[in-house]
Order: sequence, then C-alpha cells, then structure tokens
Amino acid sequence: MKAAILALQGAFAEHEYMLERMGVEYMEIRQKKDAYEDFDALILPGGESTVMGKLLKESGLFDILKGKIEKGLPVLGTCAGLILLADRLSDGETAHLATMPVSVKRNAYGRQLGSFRTEEEFKGIGRIPMVFIRAPYIESVGEGVEVLARVDGRIVAVRYGKQIGVAFHPELTDCRDIYKMLFCS
Ligand code: GLN
Repeated sequence: MKAAILALQGAFAEHEYMLERMGVEYMEIRQKKDAYEDFDALILPGGESTVMGKLLKESGLFDILKGKIEKGLPVLGTCAGLILLADRLSDGETAHLATMPVSVKRNAYGRQLGSFRTEEEFKGIGRIPMVFIRAPYIESVGEGVEVLARVDGRIVAVRYGKQIGVAFHPELTDCRDIYKMLFCS
C-alpha cells in the first residue's frame, strides 16, 4: 500500500504525519512526473480550494489526477479536498475536478463559527471527533452518493464509489478509521 498526497498547498504535512503514525508508505505529488508514479490511493488535503485548483491546472496535474480518479483510484478529499472533488459549488463558482456528484457550499458556517470541534456518528465507524476549519458542507447529493455523516442535519461526509469526501479534518484528530476505509476501498 502506497498513498499519494497532493502537496501543492495547505494541510498536507498533517496527513503525512498521520500516515507515519499508521506506518503507511506515502509520497508527495507536487509536479506532473509524480502523478505517473505507482500509488494505490490519493489524499487531497485541506487548504484553499481556489488556490489548489489553480495550481492543479498550472502544474499540469489536473487532467492526470482527474483521469485516475475517474478510472477508480481511491481518493480521500478533506475540506478543501472535498471542494475539489465536487461537481457543483454553490454561489455559481466553477467546480474543479468535478468527479463526485455533490453540491458543496464553501465557508458554509459563517464568520462566527469559522472553526469548531464536535463529535458525531460516522457510518460504519461510530462516533468520531470532527474538527472543522472554515469548512464547507454538502448541500445535496446526486445518484449513487452515500451519506456517511451529518452535523446538525447538514451532510459533512459522503462516499461515491471509491471517492470519500469529508468536510472536516481527520488528520487533526487521532481517528484513523477514515484512512482505513480509504485503503480498504
Ligand atoms: N475555506 C477553504 C476553501 O474554501 C477550505 C478550508 C479548509 O480546507 N480547511 O477552500
């Protein structure tokens, strides 16, 4: 098992630290040639989705990674990573990789609740801690998308085939189960 982490911007080091603790081999994806290496799963970290989307295009990684995900590469998108996967963004913003039929609202919790921590039920895992940082939530899901978790009635985690998208940051807690779900998909 070898994981690849998109390392253009944002919270990729936190995912690396988690994989180190789990004893999972990983590599960083920073430029086009990295994407041609062999890896079994991809992690798209939190950060700033507009910046990451722009860097994906500029680096030439966009089409290669989109193609791999569409062909069934297991992928975990956390926070901004989820935004990259969504095929619709509210407020008329342009979608990025658009491999997952969900509509996502960015910075959805308003200024008063820029960041918070809670604990909720995650399908197949149980109650887990969830850390949200200027997080999105999922407004609606298309056919074939399974809802994995909600917070206050709002969808915060989904699975679509081998794609998992979560609005929170599992890398900032000690919860490894979402990673295990990715590696076992
Ligand atoms: N607010 C960021 C965005 O819209 C996401 C924040 C995060 O990844 N923690 O891209």
